[in-house]
Amino acid sequence: RTSSSMDPLVAAIDQGTSSTRFLVFSATTAELISHHQVEINQSFPKEGWVEEDPKEIMHSVYECVERTCEKLSQLNIDVSNIKALGVTNQRETTLVWDKETGEPLYNAIVWLDLRTQLTVERLINKAPGRNKNHLKVQDDGHFFCFAVKLRWLLDNVDEVQQAVLNERAMFGTVDSWIIWCLTGGSSGGVHCTDVSNASRTMLFNIHTMDWDPELCRYFDVPMEILPQVRSSSEIYGWMKSSCLAGVPISGCLGDQSAALVGQMCFKEGQAKNTYGTGCFLLRNTGTKPVMSDHGLLTTVAYKLGKDEPACYALEGSVAIAGAVVKWLKDNMGIVQSSSEIEKLAAAAGTSYGCYFVPAFSGLYAPYWEPSARGIICGLTQFTNRKHLAFAALEAVCFQTREILDAMNQDSGVPLTELQVDGGMTANRLLMQLQADILCMPVVRPTMSETTALGAAMAAGAAEGVDVWSLSPDHLPHVTSEKYEPQINSDESEFRFARWKKAVQKAMNWET
Ligand code: ADP
Repeated sequence: RTSSSMDPLVAAIDQGTSSTRFLVFSATTAELISHHQVEINQSFPKEGWVEEDPKEIMHSVYECVERTCEKLSQLNIDVSNIKALGVTNQRETTLVWDKETGEPLYNAIVWLDLRTQLTVERLINKAPGRNKNHLKVQDDGHFFCFAVKLRWLLDNVDEVQQAVLNERAMFGTVDSWIIWCLTGGSSGGVHCTDVSNASRTMLFNIHTMDWDPELCRYFDVPMEILPQVRSSSEIYGWMKSSCLAGVPISGCLGDQSAALVGQMCFKEGQAKNTYGTGCFLLRNTGTKPVMSDHGLLTTVAYKLGKDEPACYALEGSVAIAGAVVKWLKDNMGIVQSSSEIEKLAAAAGTSYGCYFVPAFSGLYAPYWEPSARGIICGLTQFTNRKHLAFAALEAVCFQTREILDAMNQDSGVPLTELQVDGGMTANRLLMQLQADILCMPVVRPTMSETTALGAAMAAGAAEGVDVWSLSPDHLPHVTSEKYEPQINSDESEFRFARWKKAVQKAMNWET
């Protein structure tokens, strides 16, 4: 059935790397009722550094909320139907602010930032016997995570050191910053995060579900500056201002966890891949954490209620996916808009033997090679921008295949189809290429905002809100589009083998 103007609504803030969105869903049908999106600026003050302005992030949140409320009014929908609000966010991006003035003490250091490479080396050297593998297994995080960014801030920014000494510093990921600001900021804001975000910090114990004193000691991080860790679905506080003043904030999930929930991957073995700035493939492993032998990370997927068990996931990530399209647009001027790449690549229909490994920030899973750099190879006099566009899209698909292969080896149970979402999945050529390169069907929901949907579901299902049921019998039906492989597996394997050769060159290009 379609939603009526009386249905309860649930909203979500989706604060991503490249933009902020605010979306309102029907809690009855999961239909997207209205939304607004604002782009976010990134700054690159030095090579490898990536920052965002925390104040700009909050302005974008408020702008999206206000504009969406206006749009709802135009649709004759009363905003008082919004019963709860969830937050989902780019994970690991690290912020620090002064709890008395409410002012950020430094820009947000974005997850992609590479400045901490030296800090990591120092940390590894600091403790003999604590090799990098030990650290990774211990915490299931990666080296450019929150803890190391936080360490960098504590070591390098005077204002931060002062604020810690004066007991005025608050640290957090983007969710913590947003929730703190929305619930009142310096006049009573709630300083919290959820288990899915906390599990990405390298300071969290994924077995006890709390900050780990030993890890905090190791990174020399005072525990009192960290947010309180809560479940992903409970009332954290209430909106203080804006057109939604008084609405409970009752869902919080890192973006990839939110997508897993929004794709309804609640059963062990179910998986989804999200194509945004980077690519993130998560597979639900149920209530037990599974350790990877193939370079994947073990993470807390979600904990949907104070008294509910935590569910874990295996995760593989590709640092540069949509970002390669943005690079072709902003740095190379090959396209005017991201969506243009589809037409350009389709006009070539092949990369003509050109392989593009966009290892701009090193290579993530399954290689974990921070010193790898981008490479384009197989060029001939015939190669043109269309082939390059095709090779860029293919690179995203090859990288996904590498992660999926690793995941299948870890779990022993191969996936039979891949559920996908994210901004890049608007690109149908990419979807077809992905099915071809994986030799398996790719399924895309018609409503692409699954990340926000997941956060809204968590918020609507929270105790005390109770407008959304997450029981398997009540899950909303979501329509989807299926892409079947159209090339034979020999051709697919041939191209994949070539890609792997190119990856070796990207890893060793200096030697
Ligand atoms: P994030 O949540 O990481 O900010 P989104 O899910 O909004 O990312 O996706 C945006 C990314 O997807 C950008 O990097 C953009 O270049 C890329 N993108 C968006 N539309 C397309 C398209 N039609 N084809 C290819 N890439 C696209």
